[in-house]
Amino acid sequence: MQFKKSVLLAVLATTTFSAPLWSAESVDLLIKDATVLTMDNSKTLYHHGVVAIKGNKIFAVGDASLAAQFDAKKVLDVQGDIVMPGLINTHTHVSMTVLRSLADDVPDRLHRYIFPLENKLITRDMVRIGANLGNVEMLRGGVTTYADMYYFEDEVAKTVDQIGMRAVLGETVIKFPVADAKNAEEGINYALRFIEEYKDHPRITPAFAPHAPYTNTTEVLQRVAELSKEKNVPVLIHLAESHTEQEKIAERADGKSPVQYMHDIGALNDHLVGAHMILVDDHDIELVKESGMGVAHNMSANIKSAKGVSPALKMYDEGVRIGLGTDGPMSGNNLSTIAEFGQVAKVHKLVNQDRAAMPPIKVIDMATMGAAKALHMEDRVGSLEVGKLADIIVVDTKAPHMVPMYNPYSALVYSAYPSDVRHSIVDGKILMEDKKILTVDEAAIIKEAVEYTQIVRDTVIANGDEVL
Ligand SMILES: [Zn+2]
Repeated sequence: MQFKKSVLLAVLATTTFSAPLWSAESVDLLIKDATVLTMDNSKTLYHHGVVAIKGNKIFAVGDASLAAQFDAKKVLDVQGDIVMPGLINTHTHVSMTVLRSLADDVPDRLHRYIFPLENKLITRDMVRIGANLGNVEMLRGGVTTYADMYYFEDEVAKTVDQIGMRAVLGETVIKFPVADAKNAEEGINYALRFIEEYKDHPRITPAFAPHAPYTNTTEVLQRVAELSKEKNVPVLIHLAESHTEQEKIAERADGKSPVQYMHDIGALNDHLVGAHMILVDDHDIELVKESGMGVAHNMSANIKSAKGVSPALKMYDEGVRIGLGTDGPMSGNNLSTIAEFGQVAKVHKLVNQDRAAMPPIKVIDMATMGAAKALHMEDRVGSLEVGKLADIIVVDTKAPHMVPMYNPYSALVYSAYPSDVRHSIVDGKILMEDKKILTVDEAAIIKEAVEYTQIVRDTVIANGDEVL
């Protein structure tokens, strides 16, 4: 019988000496008869396992015998379903949901299509409407924490607060005039005000989001690095993503790679989270590892845009803090990393010409603990362990495509859909139960997003583009 020593100690520690050991401990939520994938360091798995939650934290994790020890206010008997840490999407632009399926295959899309469209379109309303839609999509798909880079991040923050999810929200810093700032300096000031407003929020981590090295000056990148240390907040950036970036940085910095350049200007550190990291060589990987920075690996966006395949597996195997992301819904186009799992496994196998190169457990690790490490949050989330925050999902295993389930990691990576997620719990609260979202009005959110598409269509046409 498997019984984790730490679980036993946690149970004993909370039992007073005068009370008999068998007296029931009161907890808020008990999940039982679960296939528990803890994703702890030993990858402990319990069949017919139990997770007990008290307040916003995990109180106990263990096998079936634990259930009798608790008197729970609410019990979820999940009858063998997978119970695992909430997924962490390490990179997105959630408000872009309202632009999804537009111009997917336009060449030079970012500069030729997206930036001009965003310049006319982005308002507080657009950011809020898009974020609401994306939040619902992510929660349905088992994402409990996400990292976002966009404009008016205080609007995104309000939506995250309302639905009850967890997020790292990065306010954009970029050298061009954008919707909420005329230049990088104004972007920095906007970010500073946002950081001040949200620095003590229990579920929202405010951050800086310099768009990329080539869309900011060296001075701005250095200033953001200094401020992030001073304020103790993350810095989210697109890094080593494209040949355009590579060429522009090489021109600026004596032929250096983007990673080498960021290192040399003092901006590669343990506050940084770099998205994509496609164009990195072995020396860059060494610098990334030494710096303690995090990496967001967005497979489907990277292969859809034909930019390339990041050596993410190599980075993972070498101990880099790396987790899965989806990128924005104009790039990815889905926001649940469950939709990434199969592609991540299969493309890395193909690239490495090795069927065994990317076993499912590595993919799940990159979606949970790896992603928590990438966002420097592994002390709080990413695994089901006593004392960690109760961010937990339950994945239905009774749908035909999930039967039979000899190996739950394989089932998740090769068979599961985002819509298989049945319950989503964040900070100890059930936000989605039996596929019904409890904290926001999903129908109203979808209706508002659909209504908003008329504004998008009109703006695309006014820009001289076809709606395609
Ligand atoms: Zn992105």
